[in-house]
Amino acid sequence: MTKTLLKSLLIDQPSGTPESVIVRCLSQRGAISAAQIARMTGLARSTVSTALTGLRKSGMVVEIVGPQEGTKGVGRPAAALALNPEAGTCVGIHISLDEVRLMVADVSHSVIAEQNIPLGVDYTPQQAARMAKEVIAQSYADKGLPVSGLLGVGVSVSGPVSPDGVVQRASIVPTWAGVNIRNVFGPVLQQPIFADNESNCSAIAEMMWGAAVGHEDFVLFKIDLGVGGAIVQNGRILTGIAGGAGEFGHISIDPTGDLCRCGNRGCLELYASFTRPLEQIARVVGRSVTMDDAILMAEQGDVRALRMIGDTAEIAGRGLGMIGSVINPPLIIIGGRMALAGDILLVPLVASYEKHTLIKARDLPPELRTRITIGKHTENDVLLGAVGLVLRHHGRLQ
Ligand SMILES: [Zn+2]
Repeated sequence: MTKTLLKSLLIDQPSGTPESVIVRCLSQRGAISAAQIARMTGLARSTVSTALTGLRKSGMVVEIVGPQEGTKGVGRPAAALALNPEAGTCVGIHISLDEVRLMVADVSHSVIAEQNIPLGVDYTPQQAARMAKEVIAQSYADKGLPVSGLLGVGVSVSGPVSPDGVVQRASIVPTWAGVNIRNVFGPVLQQPIFADNESNCSAIAEMMWGAAVGHEDFVLFKIDLGVGGAIVQNGRILTGIAGGAGEFGHISIDPTGDLCRCGNRGCLELYASFTRPLEQIARVVGRSVTMDDAILMAEQGDVRALRMIGDTAEIAGRGLGMIGSVINPPLIIIGGRMALAGDILLVPLVASYEKHTLIKARDLPPELRTRITIGKHTENDVLLGAVGLVLRHHGRLQ
């Protein structure tokens, strides 16, 4: 089986044969049963069965029993069908302040390698692309994988990205504003390039392998040193016309408030992220405090850390209440590193959300209540989502 054959089934047939519909479904969903394939694609079980016989014979689809040794399957059922791991691989890249992070995964959704590439602040897109090329070649050589099996590269950026791949704003790496990711990375890597905002990538990770599996409509709200978000409707990320949808952190809640890094005033991010609270607590305890430190202190009952997380959660809940009033989603997933605080963050946040939305959970039957939960991949969601950009790009299930 060749990359060309897989590509022809994934990309070249817009609506396609049952075989291409099944291959696209497996690319998006990882390892699933034949019954699940029939349910998700809407194909008759007999059609699925016939197509799978051919796909298994050609080696395109294999049966997988449990996680394979040496790899990390993500949310994989005990016995299922998946694309042959040897049929293709994809790479996810995250552009952060002073390093590029990179993950290699195969089409059966197993993570093969991860690497952080330090570049120093203010690195250029061209430097990042050249370095990514070297590291991809090295990672593939180390693992004995053919680079010819690479099906595409997903790139995650900290800022809105327009549907054609142009970075609109880039507060983490400001010099990247206006850069077309596809045009820069495509010629260097010689691969199809898929680019999106990091919060959208987080939403993809939660949708494919995390707290949103099986959910077509949800909101992701990230609380970290900044505030970010994503809106998913009918299984699709809502991008807006220029990629600016879901920028929850820059909703202005106080037009006369402090200046935000975006140039506006009084943005939600200034009050609902943990940048300022950590500075405050550091002053009180007389040493620098990271998010991990603050969570640990709160878990050990430190009243200052508990108060800091509770107060910030209250403001975040107020912001989330606005989003709830606009969208009234069935599910809200809390992401970002602060989500690792679990109930310490979630309980005051949910209480505040309730206080600031019109429809109250207590007045609703359980099936109509908005469920607010912690994400499953808060530490690695961006990189997983960048891989997911490639696996999902083949379009919605037929
Ligand atoms: Zn702002």
